[in-house]
Amino acid sequence: MMRPIDLRSDTVTRPSPEMREAMAGAVVGDDVFGDDPTVNRLEETAAALLGKEAAIFAPSGTQTNLIALLAHCQRGDEYIVGQTAHTYRYEAGGAAVLGSIQPQPLDLNPDGTFDLERVAQVIKPDDYHFARSRLLCVENTHNGLALPLDYLDQVAESGAAHGLSLHLDGARIFNAAVKCGVGVADIAKHFDTVSVCLSKGLGAPVGSVLCGDQPTIARARRWRKMVGGGMRQAGIIAAAGLFALEHNTARLQTDHEHARLLAGGLAEIDGYRVEYDEAQTNMVFVSPPADRVSRLQAYLAEHQVLILGGSRIRLVTHLDISRKDIEAVIELVKSYRA
Ligand SMILES: *Cc1c(COP(=O)(O)O)cnc(C)c1O
Repeated sequence: MMRPIDLRSDTVTRPSPEMREAMAGAVVGDDVFGDDPTVNRLEETAAALLGKEAAIFAPSGTQTNLIALLAHCQRGDEYIVGQTAHTYRYEAGGAAVLGSIQPQPLDLNPDGTFDLERVAQVIKPDDYHFARSRLLCVENTHNGLALPLDYLDQVAESGAAHGLSLHLDGARIFNAAVKCGVGVADIAKHFDTVSVCLSKGLGAPVGSVLCGDQPTIARARRWRKMVGGGMRQAGIIAAAGLFALEHNTARLQTDHEHARLLAGGLAEIDGYRVEYDEAQTNMVFVSPPADRVSRLQAYLAEHQVLILGGSRIRLVTHLDISRKDIEAVIELVKSYRA
């Protein structure tokens, strides 16, 4: 059977034969005892890359974000977070449910940045009427947009001025770094903790890492155990993460070029509205003409192209998408008539 062209997300990537070989040959031990050399090497490698003291491997980005929030905040504390940020909207309310941490959501600007004056306004005074404003949670990339580097400087200044700790949901921090032409450490340096997904554009089947200073990661390690993220011979999957960090970061540039190509091609088709910003990495948002919204997804599926439905569709490029695939998708959309 032909492999479909899957543009629904960069989470759909399959491990390559070379990655599978690295997994099969991984030296393993019991990671709950700290005995898995491959997990240890992944954690050391990630920490070094991000310029942090320590790191911890977990099954998902949802879990690295959760244990970061739990490590930063106590019951009755508050974290300030984007209204459309993953940690607020797409993690089933975990911080509130499991940590009694109150979210203070704020609308983000279209480029994914906070209005930092608004952030300052919602910080609560030290008064027993209020939750304690403890943490600011930033997401980079957000909707595929890399945040401007000078904005990150401002976030760091603002955090320091108001005594807030800073967490970065850097699920796609490598996309941001490649886009900005800097190392991931240049982005991570502004934040106390950074969570990174290995299972998205980097192509590993499972896993995320949380990076930060030793005491914070030690607290996160206790929380990880509590929420069931202590895995045993996890080196099998950590090996895929290591392989991803060693081989699949620079090539994200190709995914970004493919997204640009896709945006350009779709924008030329009558009636399609394409959102593509200069800061965009591997996502394109497209709104089909009204008469094609309902059937476009099914039409493409008949031709082995998978997209999400809806009137504003997110298309995501990744390492299982080639330039030829992009050209084929553009031709297919062109050929579709309501
Ligand atoms: C995917 C994603 C996560 C969570 O990752 P999972 O591994 O799917 O739990 C967190 N933040 C952002 C921005 C993401 O895109």
